[in-house]
Amino acid sequence: MNTENPSTPIDIARQALKQLALRKVPPTPDNFHAAYDEIAGAKSEDGSTGMARVLEKVLREAGKGRPKFLAAAKTISGLAEKRDWAAVEAQLRGLLLATRSDGGAHSWSTVLRNLIRQLEVSHKGLTSNKKKEGLERVLTNFEKDPEQLAQKIQALVASWGSGVSTPLVDEVVAPVTAVASAVTEPAKSTLEAGALALLWRDILIRTLEMGCVAQLKDIPSIARQGQALLEQARSARTEPEVVKLSEALKPFWYALEMNQDAQHRLQEELMHLLRLLVDNMSELVVDDKWLFGQTAIIRDIISKPIDIDVLYDAESSLKELIFKQGKLKHGLVEAKDTLKQMAATFISSLAGMTETTGEYHKKIETYRLQISSTEDITELNVILDKLMGDTKAMQLDALRSHEDLKAAQIKVVDAEQRIEALTTELDHVSEMAHEDYLTGALNRRGMDAALEREFSRSDRFDTRICVAMMDIDHFKRLNDTLGHDTGDVALAHLAKVTKAALRPTDVLARFGGEEFIIILPETEMEEAMQVMTRVQRDLTRQFFLHNNERVLMTFSAGVAQRQAGEDSGSVMKRADLALYQAKQTGRNRVISAD
Ligand code: GH3
Ligand code: MG
Ligand code: MG
Repeated sequence: MNTENPSTPIDIARQALKQLALRKVPPTPDNFHAAYDEIAGAKSEDGSTGMARVLEKVLREAGKGRPKFLAAAKTISGLAEKRDWAAVEAQLRGLLLATRSDGGAHSWSTVLRNLIRQLEVSHKGLTSNKKKEGLERVLTNFEKDPEQLAQKIQALVASWGSGVSTPLVDEVVAPVTAVASAVTEPAKSTLEAGALALLWRDILIRTLEMGCVAQLKDIPSIARQGQALLEQARSARTEPEVVKLSEALKPFWYALEMNQDAQHRLQEELMHLLRLLVDNMSELVVDDKWLFGQTAIIRDIISKPIDIDVLYDAESSLKELIFKQGKLKHGLVEAKDTLKQMAATFISSLAGMTETTGEYHKKIETYRLQISSTEDITELNVILDKLMGDTKAMQLDALRSHEDLKAAQIKVVDAEQRIEALTTELDHVSEMAHEDYLTGALNRRGMDAALEREFSRSDRFDTRICVAMMDIDHFKRLNDTLGHDTGDVALAHLAKVTKAALRPTDVLARFGGEEFIIILPETEMEEAMQVMTRVQRDLTRQFFLHNNERVLMTFSAGVAQRQAGEDSGSVMKRADLALYQAKQTGRNRVISAD
């Protein structure tokens, strides 16, 4: 092996080590490097010194106004001179960590967002000016050190306390922005993420469409804004477009928030008005126990959190109240008329009486003069006869007046009794609200209310609804053979069996006499026919018993399914026509209307 003229790097290295051993120099990297250069006859390039200089230069530039960087540049330069690369690395890592934790863009955005929010929020014992003063101080003291400045602002804001937070639009928008970036970034690399992005986009579109635009029909300005966003969402294909959309959503959410607030205030104000009305109603209405009770019920109903059923209940109670008041007013007008009549009779009778007695006195005076001046006993007899006749006539007049008065008095008592009976009856009706006293089914008023309620529900939820009209077969015959009272019991029996056979949502009402109406919500014709057949079947199984004898009762019925937008009058008319056909074709059958 030629060792005199080493030509390969391995030979040179071997010679270098040999030289170090001969010179008794320790084989440190630097010593080895120098020996290597000597043998190779050329100075090898040492990049590390250059690198250290570049690093120091950059750190000094970055350190303008940032003491942490200046100190690091100095230390790194020293360590590079000693070629202590491990220490250099540790320094650089430390600097990196410090930069991330308190100087990064993300951190600044958090600091600023928090600052803006806390400036708007109220804090106990702190005015807005006080907060601004504190901020001014921090800005002046730390303007030269951005890292410290961020930290100090955070600390200042934290010292203000938790405060009373008001919702900010940013909070709502934040997740959307996050979704937008999550969707767009991975979408570039993987197919799954692309599909996910599309899914999210569709969800956003549907939310805007169904959750926002569809709900905003009554507020055209915000609806238009929502519609524009919807179109923007539909056409957003690239990341910048999605980011732009998320920005455009912010004012929309703000408008929604403001609108919701306005709606809430409107609702509160309406309820307030209603409460005011109800409270004052009890002051205005006549002194009546029932009315006071009724207003208390309404007050109780509307004190609950508002929902549509609460309002339905309030409406129905109010209607009841108006009905009762109308009836009472009518009764009072009647009573007043009777009293007026009585007063008129009394006065005319009184006038008649004074007239008669006045004349009597006049006559008596004439007779007295005639009696005192007469000498003739026959003439006296004639005068006395006349006097007696006149006295009798006066007595008769007085008697007639008395009888008139008595008759008027009886009329008044009668009217009073009628008013009393009317009030009692109304109290009873009010107790039962909308119930028919004999069968426990709804009465006509109850039926009208139920029809109105169920028809508007069917409109709102776009559901089918059927109405059946039933009439007992040959009921007159039953009445004639068993008596009217038994007929009544039979009617109650039929109502009971029918109610039991119906579904809980169906409504039974007594239309009048021995005719009933059944309202079948959310029901198609076929199902309604099945329900009616079930009622027929149950009625033949559960006999009406009279004196322990089975009395067979059947009915005929017509069923009509409501057509779109059809009013209750028209539906009932069609059901009635079908009922008529059922009677015509032999009774004991159910026929569907055209
Ligand atoms: P159809 O099957 O053709 O209807 O024969 P019907 O006898 O039932 O004839 P219609 O319906 O005209 O007569 C009804 C009878 O029902 C007449 C009336 O006396 C009786 N009715 C009506 N209301 C009551 C009630 O409240 N109690 C009783 N017991 N009978 C009633
Ligand atoms: Mg009838
Ligand atoms: Mg009948």
